[in-house]
Amino acid sequence: MCENSLYPDCLNPEDCESKSSNWVKVTERFKDSATKHHERIIQKMNYLIPSGEHAEQRMSANERMVSSEDVKDVIEFGEAISSRRASDGSIKLIVSGYYKFGKAYLPLHVPLIRQWNENGEEVWIVKTVYNPIEEVWVDNFSRKVCFCGKRRFGGSL
Ligand SMILES: [Zn+2]
Repeated sequence: MCENSLYPDCLNPEDCESKSSNWVKVTERFKDSATKHHERIIQKMNYLIPSGEHAEQRMSANERMVSSEDVKDVIEFGEAISSRRASDGSIKLIVSGYYKFGKAYLPLHVPLIRQWNENGEEVWIVKTVYNPIEEVWVDNFSRKVCFCGKRRFGGSL
């Protein structure tokens, strides 16, 4: 059974299918820690949207029309769909939710990276924001089935 039959435009179905099943495994393994990290972020509101960085550019009027308030809402009311540890020990969490755009609600993913401030306290940095595409992110935008990304779409997904 080929999961990428859901997404016929995939450039490399075999590769993406194996990445997708790996995604599911890792997501399952870190499900509890994703929930814990997310709960702590909501409790402490210890996240930052760095100015002049990718996240802010993405939120600018020309690109996505996503405000800091929208990002805050997604973090607060969204769902942590993935948590993983990078080789440098940092943790990346993706929170998925919706924001209001005109009269519609659009899906938004907010990837956050855990860092430590000078007092040794945990701070989460919003790395970017993007509108997930439903052909690439199935199960209500929670499971990624195609990893072709920029090669296919010219942007992060
Ligand atoms: Zn693909």
